[in-house]
Amino acid sequence: MNALEVEDLVMHFGPVRAVDGVTLRIREGSVVALVGESGSGKSTVGRCIVRLLEPTGGTVRLAGADITHLSRRQLRPHRRYVSIVFQDPAGSLDPRLSVGDIVGEPLRLMRRKGNVADALRRVGLRPEVAQRSPHELSGGQRQRVSIARALISEPRLLVADEPTSALDVSVQAAVLNLLADLQRDLGFACLFITHDLSAVEYLADEVAVMYLGQLVEQGPRARIFGTPAHPYTQALLSAAPVPDPVAQRQRKPVLLGDDLPSAIDPPDGCRFHTRCPVAVDRCRTVVPESRVIGSDGHQVACHLVEADGSGPDVRTSEGVAR
Ligand code: SF4
Repeated sequence: MNALEVEDLVMHFGPVRAVDGVTLRIREGSVVALVGESGSGKSTVGRCIVRLLEPTGGTVRLAGADITHLSRRQLRPHRRYVSIVFQDPAGSLDPRLSVGDIVGEPLRLMRRKGNVADALRRVGLRPEVAQRSPHELSGGQRQRVSIARALISEPRLLVADEPTSALDVSVQAAVLNLLADLQRDLGFACLFITHDLSAVEYLADEVAVMYLGQLVEQGPRARIFGTPAHPYTQALLSAAPVPDPVAQRQRKPVLLGDDLPSAIDPPDGCRFHTRCPVAVDRCRTVVPESRVIGSDGHQVACHLVEADGSGPDVRTSEGVAR
């Protein structure tokens, strides 16, 4: 059974085509990282999945149930299956409530039993923190509170939307490790949304790369990191920092030049063609279909990638076949 099935998801805000046909599945207990620059639409996908937004088109199924257009009331029984952790814990925690009330709120709303002290312990906080107010805590502690709140209803799917990017660099790794440990121990599926490919290398089972409202490549983590096929994925990877300082100095990030084009009037053909170092004429007019290029489910949408996965590598100066 899949924890999540998203089929041809579309989310337009008036003329802004934030999400334009995203298809994604997450197996029970597995972690899929959704990566892309800010403005690529990845957070909008997350908000559609937890139904903070009602999609313009397509379907969202949680544990097999179609929740795409359910009303607030109809959604209630499905709420316990999915939770979200936002980027900015300061903005997502009500400052008028105590930490204990914040963490316990989902239980009250769902009329379920649970233990706030245990939930706090699980995220590495002392139970006494329950009496405090969120503004008395550090950024890292506040994000732990958000995680405790998200997990207290024992969801089968957690959407983690840039959960560490608003935090001090010094605490990012600790929060990331905490999420990884909790995921392993509790076994929930996770959609991990991030702009930082290096953050997902040790966390994700699969990676889906989003560009301007669409997925351009997806597949098992080792495949995406080892032999990325799409020029955009290759460029993102070339810019991600690596731990080895010598290797880091020798890297030549692929410069993509101009900013992400507007989602109001996305480029014709391949949406990446205005920034792609290896674009050919066809890319400007013909939309590349997403094709499976490996028996492991590796998929890519690029005209220049062959059926066996060979194609350009923009990380080499010649941009020739791998
Ligand atoms: Fe580049 Fe063309 Fe492939 Fe798009 S389809 S990524 S523009 S080569």
